[in-house]
Amino acid sequence: MWFTVTKLRCISNEGRRVLEEWKNQFAVNERDGKPFCLLCRKILGVCKTYNVKRHFDTTHATFDKKYPLGSQERAFQITSLEKNAIAEQNTMRASLKVSQAVTLATFKISWLLAKHGKPFSNGELVKNCFLETQCLFDDLSNKNEIIRRIKSLQLSNDTVTRRISEISENLTEQLKTKLTTASALSLAADESTDIVDVAQLCIWVRCGEDIHRALSEACKDMNIPASSVVSITTDGAPSMTGKHKGLIAEMRKISPDLLAFHYLILHSEVRWLSHGKVLNRFLAVLPEIVHFLNDIGEGERFPVLRDNEWKTNVAFLADVTAHLNKLNLQLQGDGKHVDDLLGCIESFKMKLGLYTAQLKDSDLTHFPLLNDACDGVLDMQQRERFVKTVSQMQEKFISRFSDFEKIKYAGHFIREPFTFPVEKIKDLAATFGLLLSSKVLSIFGSTYICERTFSAMTRIKSRFRARLTDYNLQSQLHCAVTPSEPNFTKLVGSRQHQVSH
Ligand SMILES: [Zn+2]
Repeated sequence: MWFTVTKLRCISNEGRRVLEEWKNQFAVNERDGKPFCLLCRKILGVCKTYNVKRHFDTTHATFDKKYPLGSQERAFQITSLEKNAIAEQNTMRASLKVSQAVTLATFKISWLLAKHGKPFSNGELVKNCFLETQCLFDDLSNKNEIIRRIKSLQLSNDTVTRRISEISENLTEQLKTKLTTASALSLAADESTDIVDVAQLCIWVRCGEDIHRALSEACKDMNIPASSVVSITTDGAPSMTGKHKGLIAEMRKISPDLLAFHYLILHSEVRWLSHGKVLNRFLAVLPEIVHFLNDIGEGERFPVLRDNEWKTNVAFLADVTAHLNKLNLQLQGDGKHVDDLLGCIESFKMKLGLYTAQLKDSDLTHFPLLNDACDGVLDMQQRERFVKTVSQMQEKFISRFSDFEKIKYAGHFIREPFTFPVEKIKDLAATFGLLLSSKVLSIFGSTYICERTFSAMTRIKSRFRARLTDYNLQSQLHCAVTPSEPNFTKLVGSRQHQVSH
């Protein structure tokens, strides 16, 4: 707040007070710890009798002649001057309070618009909503005052745009402060979105730009030393994971111990996975489909629908996608640390082993749709094919999540330090060094956070954004995805400061 500036200065004037006798002698009283001339309503810089006297003698010489020192007229005149000054100051303070409230309201409305991905031009709409519903205030004695306040809200497209970029700057500032105190941090990068997300901060990277260069620049901007990055989570695309030129290879040149996690299966196949449900429903209505086709005499055109082998294949596929779907749901969500996910992946790997063994024994407990489709009896060749598919899936899972092995023990250590085998502690220290727990907990569970940012961006961009500049889009995106709250008090304070100068 800008008032504090005067307070600070007063401290440096330590020991100097505004003297009571100055009021009668020089028509000066105290305001915010400083001498205030009641005649010209100015704050006098230096709190010394010499300076106050000089101001009075040079500027207000006639006052002494008109109201001689010690006269009743003088006392009366000074009291009345003082009353006016106080009344004026109160009005000023009240109007400052009102203008601060009005500014705060425009910040909050802009924040809500950005948070919900609404066009900036909706600011005027919000104002119109207020004005159109003024019947709500009909019984209030100060209705006109309320309407006047609402009308004073500045919510034009330009103002909202400015407010949102100020909010975004404020959020970035907060994040930078947080980052300076972080002992370890991890990145989640998602190339298909062209967005790099650094601990909930969005940095927009243009299509076609070199990802590593963009990321380095982003880190530099945010004062993040590359050496403090302990892990990176990506979608597993070749541009990220390429052995020589991929992002991770580039980053390992600086931090050789960087851990990398890939979530291809969870990322690009999310949509495909939801097809599992479609398969499920398709199987449920298959008898009706066949019946219908026969009824209209088209049954012969789709012999495959009556092919039992094909039907059991579809049922097997539906069961497998249902299992993957379930895992995927467990892995999604904000704020999941790698330690939570470690358990899900571990148990899924073990489940795949169990399913393989069960299939070998023709036990279809975990393949209910397949069980229905073949009436509990599998053809031998088909069974072998299914066994092979599931065991290959397990192998793929093991290789894809191989970097997890490195932190498996770390997860155990953090969860249950007292049951952790002592002999493993040395390996652990070699991998992570000090700050083990903060390093492991900083690792992003998945690139879900990037995906969410990307869908927010698509939403914002597609609706109304042909004219939006990159900078404005970035500010809005930042507001839409951040889990932080802007510091409104500071924002309003800096606004008032700008206005008052
Ligand atoms: Zn004066």
